[in-house]
Amino acid sequence: MKVLVVNCGSSSLKYQLIDSESEQALAVGLCERIGIDGRLNHTPAGGEKVVIDDPLPNHEVAIQSVLAALTDKQHGVISSLEEINAIGHRVVHGGEKFASSVVITDEVIKAIEECNDLAPLHNPANLIGINACRSIMPGVPMVAVFDTAFHQTMPKEAYLYGIPHEYYDNYKIRRYGFHGTSHSFVSKRAIDITGLEEKNSKVIVCHLGNGASITAVKNGESVDTSMGLTPLEGLIMGTRSGDLDPAILEFIAHKENKSIDDIMTILNKKSGVYGMSGVSSDFRDLEKASNEGNERAADAFRVFCYRVAKYIGSYVAAMNGVDAIAFTAGLGENDKNMRRNVCSYLGYLGIALDEEQNAIRGKETVISTKDSKVKVLVIPTNEELAIARETVALI
Ligand code: ADP
Repeated sequence: MKVLVVNCGSSSLKYQLIDSESEQALAVGLCERIGIDGRLNHTPAGGEKVVIDDPLPNHEVAIQSVLAALTDKQHGVISSLEEINAIGHRVVHGGEKFASSVVITDEVIKAIEECNDLAPLHNPANLIGINACRSIMPGVPMVAVFDTAFHQTMPKEAYLYGIPHEYYDNYKIRRYGFHGTSHSFVSKRAIDITGLEEKNSKVIVCHLGNGASITAVKNGESVDTSMGLTPLEGLIMGTRSGDLDPAILEFIAHKENKSIDDIMTILNKKSGVYGMSGVSSDFRDLEKASNEGNERAADAFRVFCYRVAKYIGSYVAAMNGVDAIAFTAGLGENDKNMRRNVCSYLGYLGIALDEEQNAIRGKETVISTKDSKVKVLVIPTNEELAIARETVALI
């Protein structure tokens, strides 16, 4: 079966065509600058990247260009659209309505629309992608896979905030968590690799990319996670602040006569290691600057690692122990210095890092020593494959 996986943003659209038997991507690509001018980057498996500079005035045209690229005589990977058996859509927010993936119907679209308030930047864009695919390929079954769904197993003590209850009753303000597809995929791999029994397992997944979150997965279910109502809470990220004293918002607003929108832009786009260092949101740039003596870059790196270690400690408490800790996503998979720094706080758990294993990149690796009490792993995430698997399972 061939599944087209679509991740639609407001001006971009990422896609992969995945063969469900071999679990390999036949082609991957990205439409950029939709509604501005437009560019399609398309890479067939084992082939060269092709850049197509046709205008992409809207998402429907973008989808049509993707389908044309997939069936193109030169760089295409299928001979006709009939070979696409299903489409899996990443949807950011499923609120409390969706605790698992679903086949998309009119009712499902309506229910996703009802979650728009909770993710005003993401859900409407995801829906545009869904509607565009529906109108171009009306007969092809489609599945929505939600970033929030995996975390719907969290107990109340993990998801309620310490604010008046009416805000939960009236607006469903609570912790939802994100990166659920990745946390689910990686925690399952960690259980498989370490030979744990799922029903008796305690795993902490550190998804550390530009956006970063940590999840406590007990007996295969998410029981707590660091992102909240929005992806702003929790760890320090590339450009997001993560946790802070909420009174700081008022303090800056008064001092600098700023609106709440200005403050949110600062916290989402100008903070994190980027704002702290004044250098970059990319940890490779931070390391370079830090090696050249930039103290703020060095501080930003240390504060980031310290926050990760504190969250791990709190999730060990939440689960009354931990069997395995897995690092994933761009930073988690690639930055051995970050992993070493985080693990340097975890000696109390009996964790010992194998330096040689920790230096391996880009593949599943146990990076703790043989006698480490808790296994530490690097597990490359694959959200597209997880979406394709869910899609196949549902249709
Ligand atoms: P996103 O959240 O955008 O999907 P990714 O998971 O792709 O992010 O992670 C991107 C981040 O990973 C970069 O900003 C960078 O900080 C980090 N990263 C990627 N490769 C390396 C590397 N070799 N060394 C250190 N950090 C890296």
